[in-house]
Amino acid sequence: MAEFLLSKNYDVYGVVRGQNNPKRAALEAEFPEVKVIEADMTDPTALVRAVELSAPTEVYNLAAISHVGYSFKNPTLTAEVTGKGVLNLLEAVRIAADPSTVRVYQASTSEMFGGLDYNRPGAGYDEQSLFHPRSPYGVAKLYGHWIAKNYRESYDMFVSCGILFNHEGERRGPEFVTRKITKAAARIKLGLQPNLVLGDLWPKRDWGYAKDYVVGMWQMLQHTEPDDFVLASGSTASIEDFLSLTFEQAELGDWRPYVLQDPAFMRPAEVDILLGNPAKAESVLGWGRSVDLRGLVDLMVNFDLAAEEAASSAA
Ligand code: GDP
Repeated sequence: MAEFLLSKNYDVYGVVRGQNNPKRAALEAEFPEVKVIEADMTDPTALVRAVELSAPTEVYNLAAISHVGYSFKNPTLTAEVTGKGVLNLLEAVRIAADPSTVRVYQASTSEMFGGLDYNRPGAGYDEQSLFHPRSPYGVAKLYGHWIAKNYRESYDMFVSCGILFNHEGERRGPEFVTRKITKAAARIKLGLQPNLVLGDLWPKRDWGYAKDYVVGMWQMLQHTEPDDFVLASGSTASIEDFLSLTFEQAELGDWRPYVLQDPAFMRPAEVDILLGNPAKAESVLGWGRSVDLRGLVDLMVNFDLAAEEAASSAA
């Protein structure tokens, strides 16, 4: 997001939380133009200060405890940050800015839909679909979604919610399954690790490229009015499919000899299948995608092969 906004000559402020957060140095090294503000989504006073300091015209709330598995282990923290944090931020905008001059993007999520049999539209989930979240993360995000809509309706604020399906890429954390797989395949290829340990392999996800989705988020805030939009690829594939494409791209052949399973990576409740329908974003915003799933896998595998090779030759 920062990279995209800087390319459009925005003055970008980024909020970083925590004392001695190692991600801060990485952010400052990669994006020296971004002005860093220390604040925490659970601290309303810090958010008021962040709004005062930055005097924003656009606010993108991408802050969250965002890992589904982690949210089962830290459900209260997830509720505080991912749910109530949205309220704290909206209040900060109301207190410290003229809310009629600020546009707010709320990162809602396909995890709000849940993928259960009774609630699985054939053409994919759209903006009208029912919500039935299956994790503390999904439940907290649903609160964020509704409080954002409530502030739009109550105070006439420009608050738009992007209901984004899984978006991946070179910056995805290795705790998420796509990056875990592409990084492991690169390391297996280079002889740096023997195998890969995963949880369930049958769930299906609608995976797209994060860079495309960032454009969609921005387009939502340039639209004439605040609204909700689904961003998705419109196709779905299983973890097994992702493994096949990855191992093919890395020229490793069949993935099965390399993959082990461990219940530690399985969740107390699973979202079996996610498929989104981005028709509204396509027609209203003119949003589109630059790569399909194979293209996404290829760029992630190529990136990880180069990165792992560079790291191992530097060591
Ligand atoms: P999510 O869709 O936001 O939960 O994104 P993830 O990338 O964390 O998980 C996608 C799917 O991969 C879920 O159905 C997980 O249960 C499944 N999965 C299987 N093995 C793993 C693993 O080792 N790590 C993660 N993160 N997910 C896994």
